[in-house]
Amino acid sequence: MPDNLRTDVIKQGSEIYQNLEWPFDPVHKPGENSKGQTRQLTKSWFNKKLPSGEQILRKWMVYSHEKKPLFCFRYKLFDKNDNQTTKSSFITGFNSWWKLNPKVSDHKKSELHINNLEKWKTLEARLLQKKTIDAAHRDVMEREKKKWRDILHRLLNITLFLAKQNLPFRGHSEDFASENRGNFLELVSLLSNYDPVFKEHGLQL
Ligand SMILES: [Zn+2]
Repeated sequence: MPDNLRTDVIKQGSEIYQNLEWPFDPVHKPGENSKGQTRQLTKSWFNKKLPSGEQILRKWMVYSHEKKPLFCFRYKLFDKNDNQTTKSSFITGFNSWWKLNPKVSDHKKSELHINNLEKWKTLEARLLQKKTIDAAHRDVMEREKKKWRDILHRLLNITLFLAKQNLPFRGHSEDFASENRGNFLELVSLLSNYDPVFKEHGLQL
């Protein structure tokens, strides 16, 4: 799975891939002595009941449209080599519904599953952190943009004022030592005594 796709999937969460509402196919249980001829997956298997009675969604369980349709989503996302020595049923696909107990809890406790959970959580945390950094960066950019918009707005108004009054922009000497640096700079200087934007951004010329 390409990295960017994995990133998108983790951002979305696994729920949309779980197919909880799918009409699960019944499977024939092999052997003659079995009471029920066929067994079927039920939606309740996607929930784990805690001792407190609370139900939590098993987010790692996804139902796909393959021959053996139940998979571990974490394995699908993170494991690159298919030559695992520990071939868990949820890696190759699972449909022996009569063995859901104890296979589901066995898989959950397996080393492979725990490793993949760790990879998932690490990537999720990294994405969340990146989102926070991006947002902070955007805020700084917005503030900077607003600052320059405010300054330009004022400089434009000074320009328009001078043009309207037919006043020259420049003086004879515009350096800092000069007593009169011309209308434009002197107006900026005057306004900067009162205007919070000029004051804040150190435009006391
Ligand atoms: Zn797993």
